[in-house]
Amino acid sequence: MLIDNERRLGLEDTFRFSCHPGLSCFNMCCRSLTLILMPYDIVRLKNCLGMSSTEFLEKYTEWHVGAATGLPVVTLKPENDACPFVTEKGCSVYSDRPASCRLYPLVRMRSPEEEYYHIVYEDFCEGHRQQKEWSVKEWIEDQGAEIYNRMNDVFMELVLGLYSSGKRLDGEEMAKFYTACYDVDMLRRVSDEFGCEVKEDDVEQMLEGIELMKRELLK
Ligand code: SF4
Ligand code: SF4
Repeated sequence: MLIDNERRLGLEDTFRFSCHPGLSCFNMCCRSLTLILMPYDIVRLKNCLGMSSTEFLEKYTEWHVGAATGLPVVTLKPENDACPFVTEKGCSVYSDRPASCRLYPLVRMRSPEEEYYHIVYEDFCEGHRQQKEWSVKEWIEDQGAEIYNRMNDVFMELVLGLYSSGKRLDGEEMAKFYTACYDVDMLRRVSDEFGCEVKEDDVEQMLEGIELMKRELLK
């Protein structure tokens, strides 16, 4: 994979790309990948699959401590070196696919001051050889990625806040962070112990968990 770090695209900048089942590379991008899941990705996927977040995390994910942040990072557990949701006909969770799948071939970069995008190139991806032209803004709209960007910004405020504070979580804090940010259904069950509100809506519950961590860890 090559990320073109030289080119920074803003929302009005354009690129050529098209992806559809007729291409010889169809589904190749869903193999041999490391797919990081954000809290909102997990809410969407677990509801798409009709599972609790606890079951989803257990069955489909693994986690490690991020080298740069020291925080838990959740990734999709591959099956036979491929995403567990890829089928011959394409993505079986397409309507709720994660943010990084929606934005591909773009990767989003965010700082407090600005938002910009890089283009990712894979040798096998025929999409770059198609003629359709998009602005970044049009691509985000077409892929339904706007809500994902907004939700990920809320989470990244917490991650970047902790990163810039230099704080490293101990084991107990790490476990609490994992539950509060990634496991909304478990968070409801331990809400008294954690000292947070119970929300009926999963997204509201996810936001409550992230806010709880901001209150406790960014003070
Ligand atoms: S979630 Fe769907 S689009 Fe994303 S890697 Fe898996 S099969 Fe591919
Ligand atoms: S064009 Fe690129 S993104 Fe689309 S299926 Fe082929 S490899 Fe995947």
